[in-house]
Amino acid sequence: MEIAQQIIKGDRTALGKGITLLESTLPVHEKKARELLAECLTHSGKSIRVGITGVPGVGKSTFIEVFGKLLTSRGKKVAVLAIDPTSEQTQGSILGDKSRMHELAANENAFIRPSPSSGTLGGVTNKTRDSIILCEAAGYDVILIETVGVGQSETTVSNLVDFFLLLMLAGAGDELQGIKRGIMELADGVIINKADGNNVTNANNASMAYKRALHLFPRMENGWTPQVSTCSAIENTGIDKIWDMITTYDSQMSASGYKNKNREKQNIYSLHNTAKEELGSKKYNLLLVEGKFKMLENELIKGKTIYQLLNSF
Ligand code: GDP
Repeated sequence: MEIAQQIIKGDRTALGKGITLLESTLPVHEKKARELLAECLTHSGKSIRVGITGVPGVGKSTFIEVFGKLLTSRGKKVAVLAIDPTSEQTQGSILGDKSRMHELAANENAFIRPSPSSGTLGGVTNKTRDSIILCEAAGYDVILIETVGVGQSETTVSNLVDFFLLLMLAGAGDELQGIKRGIMELADGVIINKADGNNVTNANNASMAYKRALHLFPRMENGWTPQVSTCSAIENTGIDKIWDMITTYDSQMSASGYKNKNREKQNIYSLHNTAKEELGSKKYNLLLVEGKFKMLENELIKGKTIYQLLNSF
């Protein structure tokens, strides 16, 4: 396919068009989109996928702008995607306005894409998962997936990424206030943003409190201890430490084989979710009981797309 070839060559406009094709709900586009995905899949996989979450106002877009600029200055190609299941009501509260990251967006080694503007969380997630594949095929080294820290989308994003970063603010009083325990448990890194001006001491105190809190959590199965750090996105301080944290994690998890194993697990999870959605739970359960999924899971690991596998039913 011509568009696939253009994407693989790194053409940003083609990448944008490809993602639009994936997001299209028109039946005539579906077949093309699935072919495109299958072609890109063989060129994908070589990135670090990082999820970024935090409540509105914590500084996610300010952070992504400086973080993205740091990475491009180090020769990386950076893609920013978003998951915002609320966007239907809010007209795209997140990344809807590209000018939020205008400097990064202007960089030729960056690609910024707002969240699909409608759909269920499951649908939006599938589209983001497929968009990651296209971005990787286009040669992006770091894929940042932004989501608002409300509702369910964090759990969803943690199933799409290698590293999950939680942005927080130093609160007055109880530092753990307002953050659901479940989200803390998903984090591989916790960042206290706005560590600037009068807020530096507060931020350092919060950082210590989170370190203590994270110690009480059960150890992660991959042996990683979640790291806590402070930064100021606005003053551009502490940002390189965060990249060091992520690259340390990435090299440890690549060396131990966990990175690949985790991605396989995530793909299998997606296969089951998509199967339930596309086939309906009655048919899905039947196939499950018949033991059909073992074979599908093996084919998936070998590099087939979920849609190719589900086509046979
Ligand atoms: P988002 O809703 O999480 O994407 O947050 P934004 O990036 O839009 O930031 C919300 C507000 O916080 C804006 O007014 C930013 O200028 C401000 N802000 C972001 N990062 C910092 C920071 O490091 N320090 C300070 N003091 N303000 C910040």
